[in-house]
Amino acid sequence: MNQFPGRDRHAVAHPAHSGSARVGDTRRVVVVGGGIAGIAAAVALAERGVRVSLLEADDRLGGRVAAWPLPDGRTMSRGFHAFFRQYYNLRTLLRRVDPALDRLVPIDDYPLQRPDGLRDSFTGLTRTPPWSVLQFVARSPAFTLRGLAGVNVAAALELLRVRFPGTHSDYDGESAAAFLDRLRFPDGARDLALEVFARSFFADPTEFGAGELVAMFHTYFLGSAEGLLFDVPDDDYDSSLWRPLGEYLHAIGVDVRTGTGARRIAVGDDGATVSLDDEELAADAVVLATDPRAARGLAAAVEGDDLDGWRAAVAATVNAPPFTVVRLWLDAPVAVDRPAFLGTSGYGPLDNVSVLERFEGGARDWAAANGGSVVELHAYACDPAVASDDDAAAGVVAQLEAELHQVYPETARAGVLAREVLVRDDCTLIGPERWEERPGVATPSPRLVLAGDWVRCDLPVALMERAATTGFLAANQLLQGWGVAGHDLWTVPMTGLLRRAARR
Ligand SMILES: Cc1cc2nc3c(=O)[nH]c(=O)nc-3n(C[C@H](O)[C@H](O)[C@H](O)COP(=O)(O)OP(=O)(O)OC[C@H]3O[C@@H](n4cnc5c(N)ncnc54)[C@H](O)[C@@H]3O)c2cc1C
Repeated sequence: MNQFPGRDRHAVAHPAHSGSARVGDTRRVVVVGGGIAGIAAAVALAERGVRVSLLEADDRLGGRVAAWPLPDGRTMSRGFHAFFRQYYNLRTLLRRVDPALDRLVPIDDYPLQRPDGLRDSFTGLTRTPPWSVLQFVARSPAFTLRGLAGVNVAAALELLRVRFPGTHSDYDGESAAAFLDRLRFPDGARDLALEVFARSFFADPTEFGAGELVAMFHTYFLGSAEGLLFDVPDDDYDSSLWRPLGEYLHAIGVDVRTGTGARRIAVGDDGATVSLDDEELAADAVVLATDPRAARGLAAAVEGDDLDGWRAAVAATVNAPPFTVVRLWLDAPVAVDRPAFLGTSGYGPLDNVSVLERFEGGARDWAAANGGSVVELHAYACDPAVASDDDAAAGVVAQLEAELHQVYPETARAGVLAREVLVRDDCTLIGPERWEERPGVATPSPRLVLAGDWVRCDLPVALMERAATTGFLAANQLLQGWGVAGHDLWTVPMTGLLRRAARR
């Protein structure tokens, strides 16, 4: 493991346990959930000779990053996802079908805009900390000398003293909002921190855990030389990612069953069983890799001894408030200088605007054929009413479109040829509760492991990368029990800059 997975020479290798190259006896595993976590686990197990059935309740793979077809060759999804360069384990998964990652295209800039005209940008920044941070602060209109003088230096230095594992638990009981208050950042910089981090985790900062916020500062910015810039797939997620990975899964012998929901899981001394509507699948072990709500449902009914405490821990996890995605097919193009992705702050529900023809092949074809634009609007941490009340949802959609007109005035004159609205509340909330109480990959049963972005992982990873990493870790846990070699992992540095400097 001596070749770095990105440009950061401080990236950390986590070599897997050793063992035989493949399972000797026949081993069967049922992986429940075909999102990133389940796909990673299925790939990692099948590559070691395990017979894997991958169950996905939906009609297609990808989970929250799935894309589905609409009439006229258009597609829809939960929308814009940033594939950061420090997503080493997710990228390793994608390299199975795209060794040079040609299907990921860089987003040149990631401006953040406020209604008062203040604009921050991450383009042209050096990527190596601490220079990236110093340059960003020097360049950002959000940090004035007066504002900087008020910053709580001790709290700011905490950001550079993180350590994994440990940092999440260090902030048990403190919310992201309380931490930012303690930090006394200038208002603009506070907005920026929230915009880039807390709200992108679908959470209101008063409900979002400070530990996760601080971990994210480290992972995405302060502790990694990969920088805050990111890539996106060059077409809809199904075409670019999941169809090729689905073919790979078939090629390595995985029995992929879409449209197949697991109804019940049972684990015991002799084996595990997953019940479907009309079939029982017997296995040596189960990887539970569903979204957090489905996991709570399945976990509550898992049959097996000694699982009471674990069931209670899973039941105690909660979902974040709903998010809203609006995709508009406009009959006129947005101005040529509009970026692929714009973060917004202070407008109301609008959190970001993306212009899909800047990077997605299908949207580019549609825009060229229709002389228009495909524009997507996101609002996170919405009022819970939008998930159940159509009028409330319609109100948010109207507000988002009005705010789009404010941000990109030319869109006010464009007609809407088609509109797709998606309101969901299927993301986890990492709140300020005790981190150690969040269920991890291992469970009290050696025949049951967990994977997903809601699962505790003591490495500095989050969101899609936490899903991929826990998927690999879940597979490794089972492989280790069978004496079979695991899969190596990589992360950004495990400690903050100040701890690293002190060790030199
Ligand atoms: C609007 C939005 C924007 C986002 N942006 C980003 C971003 O920019 N960067 C980033 O890193 N992350 C982002 N995320 C988060 C990212 O989507 C998730 O972290 C990731 O997709 C989680 O993957 P997963 O495998 O853990 O879960 P999921 O993707 O939820 O997969 C779980 C799967 O289990 C299936 N399932 C459920 N019940 C059953 C059952 N009984 N039987 C069989 N299958 C079942 C579900 O259908 C689903 O396909 C975003 C999410 C959203 C919603």
